[in-house]
Amino acid sequence: MRAAIYNGPHAIEVGERPDPVINAPTDAVVRVVLACVCGSDLWYYRGESPHDLGAIGHEFIGVVEQVGSEVRGIAKDDFVIAPFIYCDGTCPHCLAGVTSQCVHGGAFGNHGIDGGQGEVVRVPLAGSTLVPVPGSGHSDETMRSLLALSDVMCTGHHAAVSSGVKEGSVVAVVGDGAVGLCGVIAAKRLGAARIIALSRNPPRQALARDFGATDILAERGDAAINAVLEMTNGVGVDAALECVGTGQSVATALAITRPGSMVGIVGVPHGVDASIAETIVFRNVGLRGGVAPARAYIPGLLADVLESRINPGRVFDFETDLDHVAEAYRAMDDRRAIKSLIRIGRKETGR
Ligand SMILES: [Zn+2]
Ligand SMILES: [Zn+2]
Repeated sequence: MRAAIYNGPHAIEVGERPDPVINAPTDAVVRVVLACVCGSDLWYYRGESPHDLGAIGHEFIGVVEQVGSEVRGIAKDDFVIAPFIYCDGTCPHCLAGVTSQCVHGGAFGNHGIDGGQGEVVRVPLAGSTLVPVPGSGHSDETMRSLLALSDVMCTGHHAAVSSGVKEGSVVAVVGDGAVGLCGVIAAKRLGAARIIALSRNPPRQALARDFGATDILAERGDAAINAVLEMTNGVGVDAALECVGTGQSVATALAITRPGSMVGIVGVPHGVDASIAETIVFRNVGLRGGVAPARAYIPGLLADVLESRINPGRVFDFETDLDHVAEAYRAMDDRRAIKSLIRIGRKETGR
């Protein structure tokens, strides 16, 4: 089968990989329909985070081709969403809802596990990992939003949940990448009254507004901090979503959060060395977030996608096929694209 291959920084190519087969009775083999490139894939692409040479990609939806003898709840021909981390559903962390820290879990596209940016993927612990999508014949628009549930929408949601967004909250979203934009969707969905999106890119500003942002701030750094404080009568926001992971974005999120509130951090930290004393303890601000437990969030968000209450698939503003997967990375690396979609297989069948 053909798949995207990571050959080192700035070297993504399509190549041949062995056809995945059932290794363990809890495995399933999934034929990928749609996949996409993650902001975290860009860290590997740029050589700023390590990645094994070989398979890459961890966000995909597809059709189950084969299941092992112990797989329950998933059957051949099911149309499924794969959360970006597989999990057993039974360990203490899974039972607590933190499926992203499953003691038997792991991520796709690294450490010998097939990547999502390929024609076929072996999914470990398939019965507790894959989420079947009801119905069939979904529109392309719905399909794109279902793909967004594999990671980006769940990650934006995790930022909102971690920061404690609730009915009537004043929220700031730091970051206008696909995760930040999904954070806007999530904040609105949880009832935020005011959503301040930090963005200086006009198309992203427009999408943030469509998703529910009430205010757009083009400022950065101290200017952004001062502007948010001014907009909130010097108080700060009830919840800040940190969706970038740089030293400046984390410092901004911590500084604009009102005492007694939380920053929901989901950006992959690079060069962050905020002082816990000055930014958290002495300001009475909290910090939580981390790797989104996508498997725990997908069922709730899936209902909203199928009812067209949310449309996170709009973050895909570039698309190509597996042959041109390198272009999918380049478009994001150049910031020409918010998020790249890769069309791989035929449309879903479903139950
Ligand atoms: Zn991802
Ligand atoms: Zn687990």
